[in-house]
Amino acid sequence: MERVLVLPGDGIGPEVTAQAVRVLEAAGRAAGIGIECVEGLIGGASIDAHGDPLTDETVALARTCRAVLLGAVGGPKWDAMPVATRPEKGLLRIRKELGLYANLRPAAVFPALASASTLRPEVVAGIDLLVVRELTGGIYFGEPRGRAIVDGRREARNTMVYDDSEIERITRVAFESARRRSRHVTHVHKANVLDVSQLWMEVVDEVAKDYDDVELVHQLVDSCAMLLLSDPKRFDVIVTGNLFGDILSDEAAMLTGSLGMLPSASLGDGGIGLYEPVHGSAPDIAGQDLANPLAAILSVAMLLEHTFDRPDAAGEVRDAVTAVLADGHRTGDIVLEGEDRETIGCVAMADHVLAKLGA
Ligand code: NAD
Repeated sequence: MERVLVLPGDGIGPEVTAQAVRVLEAAGRAAGIGIECVEGLIGGASIDAHGDPLTDETVALARTCRAVLLGAVGGPKWDAMPVATRPEKGLLRIRKELGLYANLRPAAVFPALASASTLRPEVVAGIDLLVVRELTGGIYFGEPRGRAIVDGRREARNTMVYDDSEIERITRVAFESARRRSRHVTHVHKANVLDVSQLWMEVVDEVAKDYDDVELVHQLVDSCAMLLLSDPKRFDVIVTGNLFGDILSDEAAMLTGSLGMLPSASLGDGGIGLYEPVHGSAPDIAGQDLANPLAAILSVAMLLEHTFDRPDAAGEVRDAVTAVLADGHRTGDIVLEGEDRETIGCVAMADHVLAKLGA
């Protein structure tokens, strides 16, 4: 049996992961993958039970599993806590413990939702891109960092630093992903100004030699930000460092117009992947069966593809979601302006996906 650790977390986390697990089990059965889900606590739920947003026991449990399926963490109940013990710390710790250095954020526009974007439908229809962001290095972690008083003035510094091994491993993730997609990689950089970006160019070019079948383009980060808005369909896989990736993955996500639809994966060399929706715990709608479970369900598709190497099973889940949307089923967050539709809840949305899967 393949074990998957489910960490529902807080707010709508438990609601969306419960539905995602139903889809995972059904898709696993159909694909002949024996999946056993075990559950643990993270975030506020773990603070309430153990006084710690992620316990050593839960980390140990994760290490016995092939993948982690996470909901979301946080909420007003824990907002006043000191930063070091807040729910988000659980999330940061599990990523660190599992050595997850590659963050994969797809942004795909489902035909039925093309008009949800703030851009014109003809610009966004057909977008299907993947941002591969380096997650554990770069300016967010580089030393020296911090503040000082120098000659009586307040000064602050951060350091952008990458070595070639960090660049090589994330670049390989991007090229491998491109091989499963449209075989095109855009490396995003600022090599006209940054020495770090020049090293990225060098290493990306070296790695590209192993992938003759994948086209590579180097793109300046500023022009990439513009092209994402003017011609987003030109992109397939975008690979970049932590800082640029942080910003561009959010920009790309918003092309699709709906937070409740966005999945993500974080991968490392340890063989355990972590899959989670991009959205947070949405305390404003928690406990009311209003949450859109599709981001969590699409995270299951990523799990099937990356952890179990079953793009066929992943494709079936994505096709089921596409079909459910084409049939006009909507949770409240994805009703389009001017659409006169009855909305459905979290459970009913998952029921429709399961029906399309024949489960
Ligand atoms: P949020 O993503 O939780 O919600 C933003 C808005 O989108 C809300 O109006 C919410 O109702 C809506 N929304 C989000 N997901 C939805 C879904 N699946 N279906 C329908 N509507 C959905 O962001 P926020 O309000 O800024 O943060 C709320 C809490 O979540 C905070 O405690 C924050 O720290 C935490 N958070 C956690 C994560 C994570 O766990 N990865 C990410 C972001 C925010």
